[in-house]
Amino acid sequence: MVPDRRMAPRATLPPHPPTGLLVFQPLKRRHCAECRRGPLSLLVLEDAAPRCLDCADLGHLVFLPRGDTALTRRSREESTLSAVVVRFNRRRSRYERQGVLVEEAALARAEQRCLADAEARRRRRVRDARRRAAQDALFAEAFSAEIRRLFPGCPADRARAIAAHASERGSGRVGRSAAGRALTEGAVTSAVVASVRHLDTPYDRLLMSGVPRHEARRRIAAAVETVLRRWTEAGLGSAG
Ligand SMILES: [Zn+2]
Repeated sequence: MVPDRRMAPRATLPPHPPTGLLVFQPLKRRHCAECRRGPLSLLVLEDAAPRCLDCADLGHLVFLPRGDTALTRRSREESTLSAVVVRFNRRRSRYERQGVLVEEAALARAEQRCLADAEARRRRRVRDARRRAAQDALFAEAFSAEIRRLFPGCPADRARAIAAHASERGSGRVGRSAAGRALTEGAVTSAVVASVRHLDTPYDRLLMSGVPRHEARRRIAAAVETVLRRWTEAGLGSAG
């Protein structure tokens, strides 16, 4: 029922295609052979003569332009009477589908079905996002607990901030790496060191003033060590 590249050009197109109804967007000014109305924007060929949609008993149908495949398919499924609208492309020498004519109520039902699908997809996305957020929260909690185990003197809110930062989804930070996932001592420690470097030392200012990274790290190494020792020994102190 859908004309394609194999279909003959307009001159030899059979007046009654084998399946379905065809409606044409004429390239020339055409008038209805029955009621003489025109020029017609859409016409049906009956015995090779143009008829307007009203005379062809298709006047009650509404036009749905091509583009939304699901909506088109469902509109036709819902529609007792439907037609495919085509226009001849001279350059390509073939008829091209422009859309369909369907019953208005059918289109409304089809739109409802598509909306329901979109709503279902939206709800699934929300559920997935919640599940991921819950996983992230669990991971961040475990990460935070591990920081506090290794660095008991690290303030709790600071540990939470480091863990949240490290476990941010898709960030590629240590918390998302395989080592971070496993909460290895090395992964947890490097997240803590990174945080100390940026927040408790002039590291960022050194970088901004043009000090090379390795030189900057060398200059702040002692300061980082001091903070880490304080956070580690605070635990030993409270334990002893
Ligand atoms: Zn007519």
